[in-house]
Amino acid sequence: MTQDLKGKTGIILGVANKRSIAWACASSLAREGMRLCFTYMGERMEEKVRALASECEGSIVLECDVTKPEQIDAVFDEIKEEFGFLDTVVHAVAFARREELTGNFFDTSKEGYMIAHEVSVYSLTAISRRALPLMEGREGSIITLSYIGGERVIPNYNVMGIAKAALEASVRYLANDLGPKGIRVNAISAGPIRTLSASGVSGFNTMLDEIATKAPLRRNVTQEEVGDTCLFLAGKGSRGITGTTIFVDAGYHIMGV
Ligand code: NAD
Repeated sequence: MTQDLKGKTGIILGVANKRSIAWACASSLAREGMRLCFTYMGERMEEKVRALASECEGSIVLECDVTKPEQIDAVFDEIKEEFGFLDTVVHAVAFARREELTGNFFDTSKEGYMIAHEVSVYSLTAISRRALPLMEGREGSIITLSYIGGERVIPNYNVMGIAKAALEASVRYLANDLGPKGIRVNAISAGPIRTLSASGVSGFNTMLDEIATKAPLRRNVTQEEVGDTCLFLAGKGSRGITGTTIFVDAGYHIMGV
């Protein structure tokens, strides 16, 4: 089955740099012809994201801090104006304070808990609600990024583990709401990959070593492998799949110890 995405449009939230999983997703989608809207958080990121976006023909770049409802509204107003409709949403946004990603989970502060959930979980629902009017009748696909720490205890992942569990539950509830409108919602649970966000998780290198020795494929996964799964979830080949979390982790999740 071909993945011709010419004439399709998508929004990519979460590109910070070339290592971002969002960038790999964007590259896979743009390769097959999808026209993209990139968002960035904060002025500091703008130049870098604009430079990357310029590699994707016809793309637009807009500011969007997902904790600012007025910025989300402005983004979707602009997409309506520029594209008129939307086929794909890639939500690859997460944040927790560095101090929450080390030590004991029971030390998580209320504020740290709330921030992690606002940025990493609630934003999927806020974005999906805004995207809905532009996706109706287009058999669209919403894709978010999760991690096995939402299902199992991973040292230091702490509040982000709780957030990923809530994110995966959000995927199921959104899938049920949006299914009758022909819109699918899925998560990709990626294995650990060296990115800006990952560098905030204490003991990250140990996780990479563990996967390389224990995962069935005896290696770690790449951004490109996650990007191509995103392409699959955006395309017709996955038209019967919704509400699911797909592991792209070299098989690590099937292992006991
Ligand atoms: P990254 O640092 O490249 O991307 C995280 C993005 O979140 C950045 O672009 C950042 O600007 C954005 N962001 C943070 N707060 C925001 C806010 N308030 N508003 C808008 N954007 C905001 O790191 P990444 O590893 O590519 O992360 C992308 C997704 O993949 C995250 O959901 C992450 O949890 C998930 N993930 C990562 C790994 C990994 O090992 N890298 C594994 C599994 C899942």
